[in-house]
Amino acid sequence: MGAVRYADVVRELNELAETGWKVTELATADGYSILALTDPLRGRGGGDPLPQLLIAAGIHGEEPAGVLGLVQWLKEHAPRWVGRLHMDVAPCLNPWGFERGVRYARNGEDLNRQFDSPRHPAVQAFVRWIAGRRFDLFMDLHEDSDFEAMYLYELLDPWPGHGVRTLGRRILDRAAVKVPLSDGDDVGDLKTSFGLIAGPLARREAAAFVERPVAIEVFAHHAAHVVTVETPGRAELDLRIRLQVDALETAAEHLANQSEAATVP
Ligand SMILES: [Zn+2]
Repeated sequence: MGAVRYADVVRELNELAETGWKVTELATADGYSILALTDPLRGRGGGDPLPQLLIAAGIHGEEPAGVLGLVQWLKEHAPRWVGRLHMDVAPCLNPWGFERGVRYARNGEDLNRQFDSPRHPAVQAFVRWIAGRRFDLFMDLHEDSDFEAMYLYELLDPWPGHGVRTLGRRILDRAAVKVPLSDGDDVGDLKTSFGLIAGPLARREAAAFVERPVAIEVFAHHAAHVVTVETPGRAELDLRIRLQVDALETAAEHLANQSEAATVP
């Protein structure tokens, strides 16, 4: 894999800023600027009740397709969703790791295990940024470097039960045309089922989760629906980027249509 440069990501984000997206520096950490983006309408203080989409990527540095797919989606697809969704985006939470292809931050810590007790400035800044806010959907973009097949985690409260065609299932159905889905593989102490790792999790259990990842933190306090995409790190980078773009596009469609259907009298 060729080297990825955070400066290229920042340049793309600055181009978005020229089209009205608001780019904010959340913190400086490990010698890099941690940035957040807000869509142009939101940036102007639009107060209409559009669905709120939160997206984060790049907390694990060795998972580049999350960041690169998100940047591509922001350039090519997100403009179409302005005015239908409010979008808040943290495109790369660990630039130090991203440039080096390293999972951890400079101090060797896994930033996605400290949301119950934020110590790293990037984690602290992200927590401050979303404090007191609610979102309708959180998309958390990752890769699994050990896998040739794709999977994802989905948290949804209330849990609709197996058999319901959730957003997570829609993302996997779309991905299955391009890549195998993981089925029956162990991921920690969980197991994939046709690509999906999902099931009921009480918000109060989530809020008590030790060494909490961002997905569990946001589910506990900020969003009733969270999808953590895990593209297969052993596949070609271009394919993984396409899978991330597809996942985001499916999520945006789902969120916008859900809300538009709900407003029909
Ligand atoms: Zn990860």
